[in-house]
Amino acid sequence: MSACLFCRIAAGELQAEIVYEDERAVAFRDIRPQAPVHVLVIPREHIASLDEVRDNQAGLLAHLLLVVQQVAAREKIAGGYRVVNNCGPAAGQSVFHVHFHVLGGRTFGWPPG
Ligand code: 5GP
Ligand code: ZN
Repeated sequence: MSACLFCRIAAGELQAEIVYEDERAVAFRDIRPQAPVHVLVIPREHIASLDEVRDNQAGLLAHLLLVVQQVAAREKIAGGYRVVNNCGPAAGQSVFHVHFHVLGGRTFGWPPG
């Protein structure tokens, strides 16, 4: 059994509210939502952070962003959402399985905190 929280969610070993899944990616609601819509998009494959993505995973990376787009459409926030990747502890990454936050349903300030 994997020790990685998001690997376990992707494998169905831990419960999450999944809003999209395919053979390469899973999207589920964040347990501590920071906006009315807050979904996490992850690859099924374990990659610790954006820094760890390699050239031969470029297709997977592109796919994840297209899943972000699809999640936004399904959640009815297309045209008004924020995509966040926290890479490394200084940026606030707390789960070391790469993920994109998809946030929407409210307005967002800039610069982010
Ligand atoms: P990070 O801080 O690494 O960018 O984002 C990790 C996110 O995962 C946080 O927003 C946090 O609320 C979320 N999270 C942590 N544990 C769980 C969990 O067990 N289930 C779900 N659905 N989200 C989680
Ligand atoms: Zn993992």
